[in-house]
Amino acid sequence: MNEGEYAALLADDAAHVWYPFTQMRDYLAGEPLFIERAQGVRLYDVKGRGYYDGVSSLWLNVHGHGHPHIDRAVKEQLDRMAHSTMLGLGHPGAVRLAKKLVDLTPAGLNKVFYSDNGSTAVEIALKMAFQYWRHRGETGRTSFLTLGGAYHGDTIGSVSVGGIDLFHRLFRPLLFPTVTAPPPYCYRCRLGLTHPACGLACAEAFGELLLRHRTELAAAVVEPLIQGAGGMITAPPGYLARIRELCTEYGVLLITDEVATGFGRTGRMFACEHEGVSPDLMTLSKGISAGYLPLAATLATDEIYAAFLGLPAENKTFFHGHSYTGNPLAVAAALASLEVFEQEDTLAGMQPKMAYLSERLARFTALPQVGDIRRRGFMTGIELVADKETGTAFPASARYGARVCRTARQKGMIIRPLDDVVVFMPPLATSLADLAVMLDILEESVREAAG
Ligand code: PMP
Repeated sequence: MNEGEYAALLADDAAHVWYPFTQMRDYLAGEPLFIERAQGVRLYDVKGRGYYDGVSSLWLNVHGHGHPHIDRAVKEQLDRMAHSTMLGLGHPGAVRLAKKLVDLTPAGLNKVFYSDNGSTAVEIALKMAFQYWRHRGETGRTSFLTLGGAYHGDTIGSVSVGGIDLFHRLFRPLLFPTVTAPPPYCYRCRLGLTHPACGLACAEAFGELLLRHRTELAAAVVEPLIQGAGGMITAPPGYLARIRELCTEYGVLLITDEVATGFGRTGRMFACEHEGVSPDLMTLSKGISAGYLPLAATLATDEIYAAFLGLPAENKTFFHGHSYTGNPLAVAAALASLEVFEQEDTLAGMQPKMAYLSERLARFTALPQVGDIRRRGFMTGIELVADKETGTAFPASARYGARVCRTARQKGMIIRPLDDVVVFMPPLATSLADLAVMLDILEESVREAAG
């Protein structure tokens, strides 16, 4: 791209593009970055400079960019058909993928309902849970149990079950009411307790709310093992399994949102596997198509599915569907990605890399301003604080996390903060050698921002 073309791109960008989750005044005051090419774990800007993809292009990419097997599968599908609706019509890939997802996910989830992003996958799970109880005659079940600090997407339904003030508070007048349980956030325990002496008191608090509201609750919704956008909040061992037990005991459906954790990100194919949990509904997106094309799925048990069967006049149909539901190109990418998981034994390959991550991140604890380091598999959050002793946070105006990420960008790696939690989530296929360089950049960026 020559100087003239670049100048025109800058001008048109400033004139016409409104970016997601971005304060446009800051964006326009800064130096925009236009990515035009990607290969492996690197992104390249229009000037040809390379950057490590330290957050897997927003927690999506799995096997690296431009993987030959997935590229070929998408191209072959494109030669056959780009899209056909799934409203009452099938296509072979959607059937094949549904069968694979049922085989891979925890036992009991036998039905797959497609959509095209994480928020809609959650929206669908909420509506399915609500409508399920309607068909069962329990019409008082109009609420959901959620966790503080939860993030399930940006549509009004998924925002309703979210718990991040910065993103969600403004919309409160538009949202449906929910019951909120304390998050399993040990570094800043809302119950003022310490793990493991607490005896998982936050799970018991969850149970008390289930008991109190059990006739009003359609479902409980959780991000299993790690609450991502809330700050990479890792739940202590046993928390998820206890939540499952409690939901079963009180007869409330459990929705696990594996949009971020699914497809290997936690070191197992799904986070629920770590604690042998089978939810009633599970949401998938992001890694499902390895970061290639928009795709999502909501999986349900036979029991939930069966409640929707009836004569047309009984009005039991699930009236929900999107134009691009189950798009064949995205499905082809998803099928190819699952083949790569097998061919490359991706999950086994992660084991030495996770050990390395753990060893390298342990060194970060000594850095000034590093308050807490949380990791499950390839999902890492480094919480930066003004005072390590007391855990006092920086004033929001310091935008400390953003500062670290800006430094990392200058050094050749793209990462994004969640407030003052710096997220590091490279593609699962990242080699040990690349991981070492990425961690060097991360460490230097945290150190320099402190200076
Ligand atoms: N659920 C979880 C757990 C997520 O992390 C996200 C996205 N970060 C979503 C839902 C929403 O997904 P999408 O951005 O594709 O709508």
